[in-house]
Amino acid sequence: YSPELGSTVARRVELERDLRAAVGTSEFALHYQPKMRRDGSIAGFEALIRWNRPGVGLVAPDNFIPLAEQLGLLLHLGRWVIEQACRQIAAWREAGLGTVPIAVNLSTSQLTSAALPDYVFDLMREHRIGPGCLEMELTESMMMSDPDLAIAILHRLRGGGVALSIDDFGTGFSSMSYLRQLPVNYLKLDRSFVQNVAHDAKDADLCAGIMALAHKLDMHVVAEGVETEEQHRTLEACDCDLFQGFLFSRPMSARAATEFLRAGH
Ligand code: C2E
Ligand code: MG
Ligand code: MG
Repeated sequence: YSPELGSTVARRVELERDLRAAVGTSEFALHYQPKMRRDGSIAGFEALIRWNRPGVGLVAPDNFIPLAEQLGLLLHLGRWVIEQACRQIAAWREAGLGTVPIAVNLSTSQLTSAALPDYVFDLMREHRIGPGCLEMELTESMMMSDPDLAIAILHRLRGGGVALSIDDFGTGFSSMSYLRQLPVNYLKLDRSFVQNVAHDAKDADLCAGIMALAHKLDMHVVAEGVETEEQHRTLEACDCDLFQGFLFSRPMSARAATEFLRAGH
């Protein structure tokens, strides 16, 4: 026993207790980060969850999503995220801001839940969301626990008009055999490649290669974590389709995202 270990355990117990209590309350919010086209227009937003933990403040997803998954809370939380995104798409449409696609991040438990597609289709009907407007991002490692089921779920989602992205592409498995079987619209090039692209010729070549591969497979590429003009320019030269990162905007509240849309960046 050590006092440090004791306090780590205590913190973890508190986190677990607070997280369990938070699900189903209004302590969660979605923040939205824009994805930009080559011409500078807004292609859509990625929804990123935040937890407003009482007494602590806004907690980033990396600090509670893995625990929520372990505790079996993510199926419920993930449904809330999808519903919230559908409501936002409808709200922007009703505010006269047009059809603005929103991407939500999936979790492993959702990709092993055969009930997911019907749940999503019900929400799309309820909020009158047309094909291609709701997007879902997944990583290849999420599919590993039951690849056949995951692939079947993804085909159903895509068949029902949900656009699909492979998140953090280039890290993890990047298995070409899966890529061939997946009905995916977008590859999201991981931030780690984007970071050095302007200064490392090898990374730039690699990015250009990934763009060429994606385009051959009829997929578009979104660069993640674009922070500088140099990165942006180099990626443009590599034929990248969409750009996301702090250079354009940090993730922002629904209200700020609405202003961003109104300003028509
Ligand atoms: P992700 O899906 O790859 O999301 C991109 C992350 O990169 C976000 O972190 C975003 O804030 C950050 N980012 C965007 N642009 C830049 C940039 O230019 N520079 C840097 N350094 N970072 C940038 P965030 O919001 O903390 O989310 C982390 C991860 O948490 C996400 O990675 C995603 O895997 C997960 N996540 C977020 N929301 C949800 C959710 O609703 N459900 C699930 N299951 N996972 C979520
Ligand atoms: Mg993502
Ligand atoms: Mg990512």
